[in-house]
Amino acid sequence: MAIETPKDYTAFSAETIKAYVCDSPALAAIVGGKQSDLKTVEVGDGNLNLVFIVEGPSGSLIIKQALPYVRLVGESWPLPLKRSFFEYHALTRQTNAVTSGARVPEIYAFDEANALIAMEFLAEHIILRKGFIAATIYPKIAHDLGTFMAQTLFRTSDLHMETAQKKGDVALFVDNVELCDITESLVFTDPYHDAELNSWTTPELDRLALSLRTDRDLKVAAQLMKQRFTSNAQSLLHGDLHSGSVMVTQDDTRVIDPEFAFYGPMGFDTGALFANYFLAYFSQDGHAEAPGSRDAYQEWLLSTVMDTWASFETSFRQLWHEERTGILFPRTLFEDQDDAIGSEQALTRVLDELLADTIGFAGTKMLRRLVGLAHVEDLQSIEDPKRRAPCEANALAMGRELLVGRNHFSGMGQLCALARAIKSRGVSL
Ligand code: ADP
Ligand code: MG
Repeated sequence: MAIETPKDYTAFSAETIKAYVCDSPALAAIVGGKQSDLKTVEVGDGNLNLVFIVEGPSGSLIIKQALPYVRLVGESWPLPLKRSFFEYHALTRQTNAVTSGARVPEIYAFDEANALIAMEFLAEHIILRKGFIAATIYPKIAHDLGTFMAQTLFRTSDLHMETAQKKGDVALFVDNVELCDITESLVFTDPYHDAELNSWTTPELDRLALSLRTDRDLKVAAQLMKQRFTSNAQSLLHGDLHSGSVMVTQDDTRVIDPEFAFYGPMGFDTGALFANYFLAYFSQDGHAEAPGSRDAYQEWLLSTVMDTWASFETSFRQLWHEERTGILFPRTLFEDQDDAIGSEQALTRVLDELLADTIGFAGTKMLRRLVGLAHVEDLQSIEDPKRRAPCEANALAMGRELLVGRNHFSGMGQLCALARAIKSRGVSL
């Protein structure tokens, strides 16, 4: 299909982006110097967009530009440029919502016609997923990401927001149709049928991958989660909160890339992160330099699962008590009637539901990375399929248990115990 490119749009190259930066007073002031002083490189390693680093004599920045098609697949899959608009607006809302923990990069400019965002270049940070593959310990991510999720999700929900503003924002983001469609198809449906773009480690994983299509309980569970995804405008989601959307140093955590943002169920964001912790966990056996050499790191990953949820819950509880100013669970029904116990009971129910959603979405997110279109580097970088497939089989078993059993876990401790049990037992191919 031919791509219709909007008339004011130019897809830049590492060369042509220099003049663009120099022509923008705000950006030129950050990098300094003249056009010939600028060093630029295109570094996009994601599935969708161009990413340029621009360095000048006095500073640097990143320019992220949407292409009118899916980079991973090519021009045969058009994708509207307006996703850049949603990414920009999500970034501004996240900037305002977070007061501690992980932050988003500082945003310098947004050019809607060219579908590009200029932002802070995180030169020292690396993608968290790459850190996991290298078995690097990051002591702050559990706190930073738990807090980030609680603040962004609580403060953009009806627990906190003024209702007219919330509804206006829901209306704004509901137009992110095509990116929601990608999630709806790729996460919730394609892994469970003969979708053209599915792939997996073949022939090793054939039996398990194909078993998803005849697993009725699993298919129903996946569609129930999809129903929650499409019909539950709880909070402004990041929409793609995996370990490739987090950049880290030892003492700083940043969240990038919210182009899938829309108002959906809180558990979709939390589930994405926990899914990626567990994918990292099961991939370690394929990276171990010697048998058992990554065991300690795997335990660190599980402690991070526990600590992330603990931080999330602590922060969410605090927000419940201090910032519950929206239309849901109003204080008039609880605290104002001296019914603190009622407020705690409501909070417990909300958190229980959120835990079940988190687990269900985590299950769907794990499965789609094993048999769907886009896989994860944690597993893809295990070159030998004989080593990779057993890791994938374990992750697949975990994903299934989470999705089908989502309402029967009492907390993250049980998930960690399940992960350990699957690892020690090993799933047969
Ligand atoms: P996509 O939406 O195409 O996946 P991302 O926003 O994930 O694009 O960016 C792709 C890559 O570009 C990231 O994996 C990271 O390596 C790099 N990148 C993106 N934003 C920044 C930034 N602000 N600072 C440094 N590197 C960045
Ligand atoms: Mg990305």
